[in-house]
Amino acid sequence: MKRKREKRTIDLGGRKIGYLLITSFAAGKVRVSIRRGGEMTVTKPCFVPETAVSGFLRDKSGWIIEKIDYLSKIKTTPVSKSGRREYLKYKKAALDIVSGKIKKFNGLYNFSVKNLSVRNQRTRWGSCSKAGNLNFNFRVVYLPDYLIDYIVVHELCHLKELNHSKKFWDLVSLAIPEYRDLRKELKKYF
Ligand SMILES: [Zn+2]
Repeated sequence: MKRKREKRTIDLGGRKIGYLLITSFAAGKVRVSIRRGGEMTVTKPCFVPETAVSGFLRDKSGWIIEKIDYLSKIKTTPVSKSGRREYLKYKKAALDIVSGKIKKFNGLYNFSVKNLSVRNQRTRWGSCSKAGNLNFNFRVVYLPDYLIDYIVVHELCHLKELNHSKKFWDLVSLAIPEYRDLRKELKKYF
């Protein structure tokens, strides 16, 4: 067997921590990884006994707890796990939110919007076509309001500049001067 996956729990500093233990023929040493959302995976080589893994985790317990606490705060779950069912439930709400914001921000820009739609997209928050159609991901409903503002302004400005040039970002900054920070923050959600 080249790879074995098992669920384990360990007591670290009085807390029960669950993790996935992968025993791998190819692994050279014990490795710990903690993902957004706080899930932990431990990979160990075949020749390392489980008792050694527990010792290793206890030695690193301060670091592990800190990392789990930090990463579980990043809300990724609703955005990444929601699918067709949530799409049907929220698409109307998403459309209402987005069209309200387009009205608001287009008071400043005055671009002409042809068609507006909300879609179930996996990888992007919005898009703009050459013909002047704007599409938005229904998952905006999970975001804080100021991030939806940024997404709407971003796509709106593509009506004028269909690229990410300096001219484009200058347009965005008219409505959202702090766009750089928001862009970074948005990356946490996908
Ligand atoms: Zn863009």
